[in-house]
Amino acid sequence: MKIFSLQLISRMSFRIRLFLGLILPVIAIQGISISHQALDQKAHFIEGLQTERDLALHFVSEALARPMWDYDSIQIEGLVQSILNEGRTARVQIFDASGTPLYEQQKPDYHPAADDLQASRQITYAIGDQLHVLGTLELTHTLSTVKKLLNKDLLGHIGSSLFVLFMIGLVIYLVLQRLSRPIEALTQTLIDMRHDDFDGPIPGLERRDEIGLMAQALHQLSQNKLEVAELRDQNDESARRANRRINRALQSTRDGVLLVDETGEVVLCNPNAEQFFGDAQVGRQLNLHSWLPENLASHTEETIKKNESFSFETTTTHNRSQQRLNLLVRGGPIRDEHGHYLGAMLLASDHSDQARQAERVRFLAEHDSLTGLPNRRLMEQTLTTWLQDDSDEVSILLADLDHFKQINDTLGHPAGDALLQVVARKFEACTSSYVTAARLGGDEFAILVRGNDSQKRMSNIANRLVEEMAQPQEVNGQVLHTGMSAGIATLSGPQSTPSEGIRRADLALYEAKRGGRGMVEIFHEDLETIIKRKSLLERELRAALTEGDIRPVFQIQTDLGSGQIIGFETLARWHHRQLGSISPAEFIPIAEDSGLIRDLTYQIMIQAFHTAARWHDAGFQGRVAVNLSPKLFGTQVDEFVNDCLFETNCPASAVEAEITETVVLASGQSALREIQALQELGVTVALDDFGMGYSSLSYLQKFPVDKIKVDAAFVSKLPESEETRAIVSAIAKLGHALGMRVTGEGAETDEHRLLLKACGVDYLQGYFDGPPLTERAATARLFPGRQSRSLRG
Ligand code: C2E
Ligand code: CA
Ligand code: CA
Repeated sequence: MKIFSLQLISRMSFRIRLFLGLILPVIAIQGISISHQALDQKAHFIEGLQTERDLALHFVSEALARPMWDYDSIQIEGLVQSILNEGRTARVQIFDASGTPLYEQQKPDYHPAADDLQASRQITYAIGDQLHVLGTLELTHTLSTVKKLLNKDLLGHIGSSLFVLFMIGLVIYLVLQRLSRPIEALTQTLIDMRHDDFDGPIPGLERRDEIGLMAQALHQLSQNKLEVAELRDQNDESARRANRRINRALQSTRDGVLLVDETGEVVLCNPNAEQFFGDAQVGRQLNLHSWLPENLASHTEETIKKNESFSFETTTTHNRSQQRLNLLVRGGPIRDEHGHYLGAMLLASDHSDQARQAERVRFLAEHDSLTGLPNRRLMEQTLTTWLQDDSDEVSILLADLDHFKQINDTLGHPAGDALLQVVARKFEACTSSYVTAARLGGDEFAILVRGNDSQKRMSNIANRLVEEMAQPQEVNGQVLHTGMSAGIATLSGPQSTPSEGIRRADLALYEAKRGGRGMVEIFHEDLETIIKRKSLLERELRAALTEGDIRPVFQIQTDLGSGQIIGFETLARWHHRQLGSISPAEFIPIAEDSGLIRDLTYQIMIQAFHTAARWHDAGFQGRVAVNLSPKLFGTQVDEFVNDCLFETNCPASAVEAEITETVVLASGQSALREIQALQELGVTVALDDFGMGYSSLSYLQKFPVDKIKVDAAFVSKLPESEETRAIVSAIAKLGHALGMRVTGEGAETDEHRLLLKACGVDYLQGYFDGPPLTERAATARLFPGRQSRSLRG
C-alpha cells in the first residue's frame, strides 16, 4: 500500500506534486482552524445557555415564590408558559418541597436526550426573617438547539473556508501553472535532446529569471551537443572514408597483404594475398609450408617466433593460379606501444614481370641480338668461371671473317647479316657442355673449349670451321666468297686470367691474318716477343713523332720510254738511337693501330710538300707521291691533304696520293667521294700494290684513279712466269683503256725494266733506279748541275 502510494506519487507530475504539497497543508490548517472554532463555539453556546438557564432559574424561582405561596396556579402556569415561549428552555418542572412534581410543562418538539442540560433552584419565600422553602424549580435545556446553531455556524465556516481554499488553490494553481509550464517545456526539450533531437526551440530563452538561465544553459548545452555531434559526424565520416580508402587500397594494391593475430590465425587477407600465399584465408591458421619451400618456411616461422622482421625473394607455383610467381616477401611482428606481440604481417609483391623482364634484359645483355649467340661479355664471364673451376685447361679461339667489310659494302648489310647468321649457326653447331661459342662483334667470333686436350679439340674445330668457310657460302640465294682466320690460345693453371687468354688468342689471330688469310694460328711464346716489341715501338714512335724523328726519303720514278724522272714516292724513315733503323713495314701498322698514323702522315706530308714545292719552283714538272693509309679515309682526308698543301704553299699539281684498294674495300662510297675530292683539288691518285690482296681486274672500273702501281711481287716474278707477264700486260692494257698510267714497282734489274716495258707498263720504280734518297740526294739527282742549297734559298 505504501509502495503503491509512493509509486503513485512518483508518477505524478511535478506540478501536481507541488500543488498538493502547497494545498494540503493549507487544507490541514484550515481544517484544524474550523474544528477548533467549532469546539470554541460549542463551549461558548453552552456557556450562554447555562447563563441563560441560571438567569431564568433565578428570576423564575423568584417570580414563582409568591404564586407558589399563594398557590396561584394560573400565575404559575403563565410564568411557566412565558419561560417556554420566550427562552430556549425546553422543559420546566416544579417540585414541592418534598420533591413531588407539582407541575411540568415542555416545548412540544422536545424529546429528552442524555446530554440535556438540567439545572434546579429552590423556590423560597421570605416572611420577615423567616425563609420558607416552597419547592424546587428545574429547567431543562436541550443541546439540540445549540447543535443546530453550531451546525449552522460550522457550515458557514466550512463554506467560507472552502471558498478561501478554493481561492488559495486557484492562486497556487495559477502560480504553478506559470512556473511549471516553462519547466515542463524545458523538460520536454531535455527529453527531446535525450533522443538526439536538438532541432526544437528552447522555451524561456527570453526570460531573465532562473528559468531563463536554465533555458540559456540548455541552449548552450544543445549548441555544444550539436557541435559535438557535428564534429563526431565529421569524424565518423572521415573515419568511414579512411576505412573505405584503406579497404579500396587493400583491394586494388598489387601487393598481397596478410595479417595474423597472436595465435597465428589469418585476420586480414586481401585478394592478392589469397592469390599468392598458398591456401591463406581469413579464419584459417597461416601455413607457410603450403607455399614456401620447406627450409624457407621453417626459417620464416622461426624469425616470426623470434619477433624479428624478414625479407626474402622466392619463386613459387603453390598459388591459386598455379603460375610461376616471383615474389618479394617482407614481414615481421606487430607489437603494441608497450611492445606486446599482437600478431604478424606479411607483404608480398609480385615481381614476376620484372623477373621475366630482368631475365630478358640479362639475356639481351649477354647475347648478340643478330645471331643469338653469347656476346663478348658472357664469353668472358664463362671464361672466368671455367678458369676458376680447377678444370685442367681452357682453350680460346678467336676468329675473324676475311673480306667481310667488302661483302657488307658491296652486297649490303642484309647480306652481311645473313652471312653472320650462317657463320653463327656453324659455330653454334660446335657447342656442347664443354664447348661454348660467342659472337664478339662485327665479324669476330669466339669458341671456348674446356677440359683435357682442349687445344687439340679446339684445333680440330678451328680447322674444320676454316675449311668450311673457305668454301663459297650460299647466303640468301647469293654465293659469297669469304674465308676465316683463327687464333688459338690455351690457358691452364690458377694464374691464367681471361684477359691474358684473349690477348694471346688475339695475337695468334693477328699472326694468322698476317701470314695470309684462311689460316689457324696457335699462340706461341715468339708471338709474345712480337707483341712486346710492338708495344715498345708504339711508345717509341710516339716519342719519335714529338721529336720529329720521322723523316721522308724519296724514291725516283722514271718513264720507261724516255728514262726521265717523272716523280718520287715519299717513304717514311725512322732511325732510332738504340733500336737502329725501323722499317715502315713494321711501324706503319703500329701507327695505324695506335691512332698515330694521322700525326705521322702529317709530318711526312708537310716535309714532302715543302720539298715538292721547292722542286716545283725549281722547274720540276713531275709529282711527289705520298702514301695515305686506309685509316685516314672516312675522316675527310681530302681536307687534310688540302690543309697541308696550304700550309706548305705547295701546288696540288706537284703532288700524288697513293692509296691501296683496302681504302675502298673498307670505306666504300665515302672513300670514293674522298678520292674524287682529292682529284678535284688537282692531286692525282695512284692505286698502290695492285694485284696483291683481293683486287681483280674488274675492280679497276670502280676505282676512279689516275695511276696503277703493279705490286713488286708481280715484277719480281716477271722473268720466270709467263702467266705473270700475261697478267701485267692485261693490267697495263686495261689501265690504259680506262685512261690510267701504269707503274711497275720493285724493279731491281734491267731485265725487270725490259719486261715491264714489254708488258706495256709506263713507269718504273725500284732499286734499278736506286734506293729511296734523302731530299738532298734526290735533289742532286733531279737537278744534277745545281747545288741543292740554292733550291732552299
Ligand atoms: P710501298 O708503298 O709499296 O713502298 C714501296 C716499298 O718498296 C718501299 O719499302 C721501298 O723501299 C721498297 N722498294 C722500292 N724499290 C724496291 C726494290 O727494287 N726492291 C725491293 N725489294 N723493295 C723496293 P719501305 O720503304 O720499306 O716501305 C714499306 C711500306 O711502308 C710501303 O710500301 C708503304 O706501304 C709503307 N710506307 C712507307 N712510308 C709510308 C708513309 O709515309 N705512309 C704510309 N701510309 N705508308 C708508308
Ligand atoms: Ca707506296
Ligand atoms: Ca707499293
